[in-house]
Amino acid sequence: MHIVLLGTPGSGKGTQAGIISQRLGIPHIASGDLFRQAMERGDELGERVKSYLDKGLLVPDEITIGMIQERIAAADCINGFILDGFPRTLEQAKALDRVLEERGQVIDRVIYIKVSAEELVRRLGGRFICRSCQTPYHQIASPPRVEGRCDRCGGELYQRPDDSPETVRKRIEVYFAETAPLIDYYKEVGKLAGIDGERGIEEIAEELASALSGKG
Ligand code: AMP
Repeated sequence: MHIVLLGTPGSGKGTQAGIISQRLGIPHIASGDLFRQAMERGDELGERVKSYLDKGLLVPDEITIGMIQERIAAADCINGFILDGFPRTLEQAKALDRVLEERGQVIDRVIYIKVSAEELVRRLGGRFICRSCQTPYHQIASPPRVEGRCDRCGGELYQRPDDSPETVRKRIEVYFAETAPLIDYYKEVGKLAGIDGERGIEEIAEELASALSGKG
């Protein structure tokens, strides 16, 4: 199954992608995580993308498409994948279709998780991420059992530098300018299912599972 999750930063894409990935046994591929890992390693990709991430701007398509193309060619994607944060532009969506077509595959389902702008700013302000396994927490909505430590792997929790209020506003602005057109792109081909993201994690996960099995 080849799945795309759409939604603004802070819509809960990462959390839901993690749940689907475990349920379906397919990898969760988050473009933002791949960029951050490259920056932590300090490799060439990390050097090239750092300034874009720091400012909340999109990394140029040719860099992003190349990175994802390489990732989805890996052996663990043989039964599919769930993409989180990619595609983010029409050019990326078309490139993804082309890459899959060459392999006789298609995107099966696109889920759009909807959350209001006020809720997004509130959520991103209190967000902490595990440095090791990238699990997200929220200081009010979903705090870890032990402060500063990941429930899942014990890793250190940190606040992303691009979760500052100014950069958050920029990222949401960029989302609506660049990524919102993808909603129409996938709606036109009948692959889009919209989900209300302002509810509990479990409730959203159930609706998402129905949407993926074609009932949503
Ligand atoms: P995220 O973790 O998905 O919020 O992404 C963090 C940052 O990584 C974004 O603000 C962009 O700078 C960059 N990024 C992630 N995915 C993409 C993408 N598909 N296209 C361009 N830039 C991206």
